[in-house]
Amino acid sequence: MEQITTGSHRRRNWVLTGTIILLAALAVVILFLLRPKTGMPDRFVIYYGDGKTLTVSAWETRTVVIRDGEIVEEATGEGEENVIRIENGEAWMEHANCRHGECVEQGRLNAESVKTRPLGTWIICAPHRVNVEYRGIGQ
Ligand SMILES: [Zn+2]
Repeated sequence: MEQITTGSHRRRNWVLTGTIILLAALAVVILFLLRPKTGMPDRFVIYYGDGKTLTVSAWETRTVVIRDGEIVEEATGEGEENVIRIENGEAWMEHANCRHGECVEQGRLNAESVKTRPLGTWIICAPHRVNVEYRGIGQ
């Protein structure tokens, strides 16, 4: 009688230990899957002037005005001007005084649109040599 009870106790302990080990393993797997992604978060890189760049987080709310290859405080419509807007993970050319305004018509850059846009991850203002590139997480 005594022996049987002890045996069943021992078996129950093993089941308990096994369950705890399984749950711990599951927790490790879940933590692994939920781990933060490495690398930089998504962002926009603005190329302007001759070889200058400005990197802005896609989640910043910001208007960048570039006139004649320099970043300036506000748009005046003079010179060669581009107004880039960044908001809620998107960037777009809000205004530009280039001849055909193609960069404005190129629409919005975001994680989804880059998959289908003709220019992919780029907004290009060729006449003003102002370009915006979307870079996703880790890129
Ligand atoms: Zn343009």
